[in-house]
Amino acid sequence: VLKGLADDGGLFVPERIPALPVSLGELKGMTYQETAYAVMKQFLTDFTEEELKTCIARAYDRKFDTPEIAPLRKVEDLCYLELFHGPTSAFKDVALCMLPQLLTAAKAQKGMKEDILILTATSGDTGKAALEGFKDVSKTQILVFYPKDGVSDIQQLQMVTQEGGNVGVCAVVGNFDDAQTGVKKLFADEELAQQLAERGYFLSSANSINWGRVLPQIVYYISAYSDLRREGAIEKGQEINVCVPTGNFGNILAAYYAKMMGVPIKTLICASNENNVLTDFLRTGVYDRNRPFHNTLSPSMDILISSNLERLLFELSGRDDKQVTEYMEQLAEKGSYEVSVPIKTKLHQTFAAGYCDDAQTKETIRRMWEEQHYLIDPHTAVAFDVLEQYRKESGDETPTVVVSTASPFKFCDSVLGALGVTELAEGTAILDQLAELTGVPVPAPLAALKNKSVRFSQTVSKEHMVDQVLEMLK
Ligand SMILES: *Cc1c(COP(=O)(O)O)cnc(C)c1O
Repeated sequence: VLKGLADDGGLFVPERIPALPVSLGELKGMTYQETAYAVMKQFLTDFTEEELKTCIARAYDRKFDTPEIAPLRKVEDLCYLELFHGPTSAFKDVALCMLPQLLTAAKAQKGMKEDILILTATSGDTGKAALEGFKDVSKTQILVFYPKDGVSDIQQLQMVTQEGGNVGVCAVVGNFDDAQTGVKKLFADEELAQQLAERGYFLSSANSINWGRVLPQIVYYISAYSDLRREGAIEKGQEINVCVPTGNFGNILAAYYAKMMGVPIKTLICASNENNVLTDFLRTGVYDRNRPFHNTLSPSMDILISSNLERLLFELSGRDDKQVTEYMEQLAEKGSYEVSVPIKTKLHQTFAAGYCDDAQTKETIRRMWEEQHYLIDPHTAVAFDVLEQYRKESGDETPTVVVSTASPFKFCDSVLGALGVTELAEGTAILDQLAELTGVPVPAPLAALKNKSVRFSQTVSKEHMVDQVLEMLK
């Protein structure tokens, strides 16, 4: 949790994947927080009961607009696992409300005196969720860089109006890759490291490769299964499928871990947009990032290197770290690799994959609204479309949980466009426009943007990001 990445550049994984601590039947009666404790204590064996329970209580409180934290919403014969009820209306809240608590507890336990400086590059959702999670956490500063031309208006407004005494936000000229490369350079900058150490700072990241972000995501797959049982939607031990809109492979990896722990999940359906590198990989066993990059309506999935896949390969290879290292080296050197036949076999046993383009995404949003009166965001629409394709091709009608990763109000322009609106309102008025058209209320955290003033308006070039860091620590 404190280190993020191992010294050799690999990702941290649990020494072993524990089984569920209690039967699924017993989990049925638990609150989200109780389930979180039961699951996380299996992994975080060096946290005391009190430490972990305190972390959970602080993470999952009234910041979420429902006491269920991750409610299931039934629409026709499907269940949507709504993960957007947190403070920034995106699923990343579930992990990023927890990570700062874990970091603070770990730091106290180790007796670390340094302050933590979190540096993060964001393509939209991570930055805001990280800012909200770390806001006013003591002995911590957070600085978020976002691409000037790469986030939606609402996403930008969410970040530049961020409150808190320990936060900084700065735009970077260019796209997400420029911001990301810039932040990576800051982490490798020895002169900066020296200056930070002199001022008593320890550098860390809120990136999705931190184990402290993957772990909290396992919890909601387990809570979803027990919710289905409690509602009588499935029988004891009955299998379900999950369908996950995927980018960096963190969310669907958490579902895989839940399956390993004993949740009866049959098939994990990986949904991508036109950046369909994972669709090809899960079907053929060849990962090839040498392909054009598309800016799509589901920008949080516009990714060609899915970092968390490394953790899956480790498990599927029988925990063969040498083999995984070879794949990762090939990926770095030539941008592609092909996994072994045994790994391919396991991939096909457990995963299905598909993708859809922007036109299908819009059509799905429109159809879902007109036929079911359920308003979904573009990422969730990708998942639903891919699930329909999968069901048609396979005939597999197993009860399925579709993971819903963002509020449609975070992507008002795309959603209104899908519903046939051509004249879009400006600024925050677009929130009301979508609310008036559909009768669905604007989520409180987004409605509150109207009354907030802009606190951060700096834009820097990639080369000058370091000055922002030093300025912040003055
Ligand atoms: C981050 C994100 C995703 C992708 O999740 P991964 O864990 O990176 O696969 C999907 N939808 C939304 C709205 C996101 O913010």
